[in-house]
Amino acid sequence: MNEDELYTFSLILCDNEIDRDMEQFPTEELEKIALLFTGKTGIFDHNPKAENQCARIYRCAVEKDSPKRTSVGEEYACVRADAYIPKNDNTNHLISDIDSGIKKEVSIGCAARATVCSICGHDINGPECVHKKGQIYDDALCYGKIEDIYDAYEWSFVAVPAQKNAGVIKSYNMEVDLLDSLSKKLELQGGLYLSDKERLELLGYINGLKKLSADGELYRKQLANDILKLNAFSQNGVAPGVLSSVIERMTVDELKAFKAAFEKNEAEAQLAPSKNEQRNKICDEYII
Ligand SMILES: [Zn+2]
Repeated sequence: MNEDELYTFSLILCDNEIDRDMEQFPTEELEKIALLFTGKTGIFDHNPKAENQCARIYRCAVEKDSPKRTSVGEEYACVRADAYIPKNDNTNHLISDIDSGIKKEVSIGCAARATVCSICGHDINGPECVHKKGQIYDDALCYGKIEDIYDAYEWSFVAVPAQKNAGVIKSYNMEVDLLDSLSKKLELQGGLYLSDKERLELLGYINGLKKLSADGELYRKQLANDILKLNAFSQNGVAPGVLSSVIERMTVDELKAFKAAFEKNEAEAQLAPSKNEQRNKICDEYII
């Protein structure tokens, strides 16, 4: 097989940034990953059929991107892999997908002996560690350090990888369940760490709520105005000041019910004025 029969491309397998699951490959582990994945075959769309296992990593190395820092201030490093795919009728569509950037996200599977707590250094799932991933303890973020990696299972192109920077081209997909995971974080006690993506998502959500709240306030004001107007034209009107202060304390549902009752009373009053006069007399008697 000569070079013309192979399509080559490079991809980022993983990096030392903290991922969505609040876990991280320490920089020294990246070296092991680079070694273990050299010569490994990739799977596409999680489909392990033979014809899909057609990309092979032929070179793998740790790259450092000096001025760039991770979210916890470490020098950014990633594992860049060079891979090839034999060019044939079966792989044509896959190659054009990679070329056009459709197949650009990568996930890797590997085995590690421990996930260590960044705060206390104990196994994060063990009894000695009392910390929670994603929480801040004395200004330090708690996350899991995946250590002692000893095997590499697979690498594959998937829709959303756990590592946000992994892939042929870096991409930042919005997670559908991001708000869900944010809510869970907010429910926990202690400091809170938000990724940039989460921060933006939360801001967007808050702005959406502000808009909804403004709409709700407008609706409330309209209801209150309607009631005040109905009261002004009513034969049994209440002092506007008194009514305003009552309205202020009402929920939207109460205002709606109040307005409906007002309208009904007015309709009845117009249909049967005599009954109303009767009621006025009773009221006058009480005043006396
Ligand atoms: Zn701990």
